[in-house]
Amino acid sequence: MKLGKRFLTLAFAVTVGLCSYSYANASGGHGHWSYEGEGGPEHWGSMSKDFAACSEGKQQSPINITATESADLADIKFDYKTSELHILNNGHTVQVNYDSGSSITIDGVQYNLIQFHFHTPSEHTLNGKYFGNELHLVHKNDKGELAVVGVLIEEGKENPAFKAIWSNLPKKSGDKKDVKVAIDASKLLPETKSFYRYSGSLTTPPCSESVNWNVLKTPIQMSKKQIDAIQKIMHKNNRPVQPMHDRKVTADSITH
Ligand SMILES: [Zn+2]
Repeated sequence: MKLGKRFLTLAFAVTVGLCSYSYANASGGHGHWSYEGEGGPEHWGSMSKDFAACSEGKQQSPINITATESADLADIKFDYKTSELHILNNGHTVQVNYDSGSSITIDGVQYNLIQFHFHTPSEHTLNGKYFGNELHLVHKNDKGELAVVGVLIEEGKENPAFKAIWSNLPKKSGDKKDVKVAIDASKLLPETKSFYRYSGSLTTPPCSESVNWNVLKTPIQMSKKQIDAIQKIMHKNNRPVQPMHDRKVTADSITH
């Protein structure tokens, strides 16, 4: 029963874009979660009982990746096709909804790519180090279970793969655009796709758990101008790192 409810919450969160979720506060009014002030991350868990996992969960994301256990894990099989650009600003992030037909396979289970979005600066840290931005590619399998691939983005060379997306960034909350241009999620990945894997959660309310997290070890690059362009729109939208509790991070032992 518990599992069923959890999947429902996950399915709901994905349907609304992982991020947009309003709540009724104790006085019966309506408010919204955010990244600072009264709606900030330290208050998420007490804003609504639907958000309880944000403060009570023991498998929360993001995390600081430090000690890892090496294991001979199967590669993540990426099967990404192109999509038209469906881009929106939901007030928490810039999100690109992806056309159906693209997927990843983890240990024989296929997860379909639903959307990707950005956090600035990064949410995951490597040995305490933050990156300029972090891309989350969100996938769902037939059972409604989620697998997210996190790509760390460091400041460096201008990245042409983001050109079409960046020239259509929706500036205001609620803005959305459908553009007849082909984007290719596979171009947003580093060449080397080795990864860190752990069991975590959505990094936004309702902070639902049982998300299969895969953070790629190799960052990609983006110019300062590109990082600044999205930061100017979203400001700071990264949840602080969460306690590990009893979890371990597994690193695939293959370097390719
Ligand atoms: Zn995210």
